[in-house]
Amino acid sequence: MIVVMQHDATPAQIEEVVRRLRQFGFDIHLSAGVERTIVGAIGDKTPAVIETIEAMDGVEKIVPILHPFKLASREIHPDKTVVRVGSVEIGGPEIVVMAGPCAVESEAQLLATARLVRAAGATILRGGAYKPRTSPYSFQGLAEEGLKILALAREQLGMPVVTEVLSPRDVELVAQYADILQIGARNMQNFSLLREVGIVRKPVLLKRGMANTIEEWLMAAEYILSSGNSQVILCERGIRTFETATRNTLDLSSVPVVRDLSHLPLIVDPSHGTGKRQYVPAMTRAAVAAGADGVIIEVHPHPEQALSDGPQSLTPEQFSELMASLPALAQAVGRTYTCPAPVHER
Ligand code: PEP
Ligand code: MN
Repeated sequence: MIVVMQHDATPAQIEEVVRRLRQFGFDIHLSAGVERTIVGAIGDKTPAVIETIEAMDGVEKIVPILHPFKLASREIHPDKTVVRVGSVEIGGPEIVVMAGPCAVESEAQLLATARLVRAAGATILRGGAYKPRTSPYSFQGLAEEGLKILALAREQLGMPVVTEVLSPRDVELVAQYADILQIGARNMQNFSLLREVGIVRKPVLLKRGMANTIEEWLMAAEYILSSGNSQVILCERGIRTFETATRNTLDLSSVPVVRDLSHLPLIVDPSHGTGKRQYVPAMTRAAVAAGADGVIIEVHPHPEQALSDGPQSLTPEQFSELMASLPALAQAVGRTYTCPAPVHER
């Protein structure tokens, strides 16, 4: 439930309400707005509790939270959340671009791609070290060796890295190397994995499952938030429909819907969303126009040689061209996109 304080409630009155709620066993999430403070209280609300709190000094009213997701909802947290990764802010006015290969294949491949995407305008480097492949005979990723290569790229280029963690038993290891932990579409409802990344002090990029509703996706975010990690970034990556012309159907309507329902930052993955590189630029621009906080794009120096997702990987030239179109587009929808200054490699 939400306890709305009167606009002139004193700090002492707010404190007392919080103290009583804690006594009743509620988890408290305070949101001090410009107009008034609202106290989000997660727990079992009996009529007696409601009556007691409602009668306290400084309390205006008590409003139930209508959605099954609570910590992820706008009701409890009216202002947008900004997740900070180094000097990059995800969820602020600036459009964030994450780019890199689907998988880390070798040191040379990753460093070359990292340099190219950084020069063209990406601020965060992506690359999978643990790959969730449909076939057990396909390339599964370089595992810890891949994580070390990502760390090397971060060191040399000063770019934070995002990489997928597939299993609860790898969370600790991946968190030692990654700046953002990615939960892939296939694991969106792996609840033990969600709880495990919920106790890590690193941002989590939570992809939407390929057959999951927006509500299920926000409930998955709720697992991470309620485990104690407030740094969740949502990622729309397309869902399965009857359409076969694209790999998935990129559900861009989820962007304004999630924006309405949740305070969490939201990015879009047009690479997995379409599965075909020729459609990635249009859907990147559409994502920004729809209000996404950023995009995550697969780029490979030689897509035809990629060990995974070559058909949807942009060439470096295509990626540069796409980035050049972003500043004007961002501006048209009240956002900014600034190509980062050239990097001086260490
Ligand atoms: C990926 O990012 O390479 C990936 C496997 O994504 P998804 O989980 O969205 O399929
Ligand atoms: Mn991929």
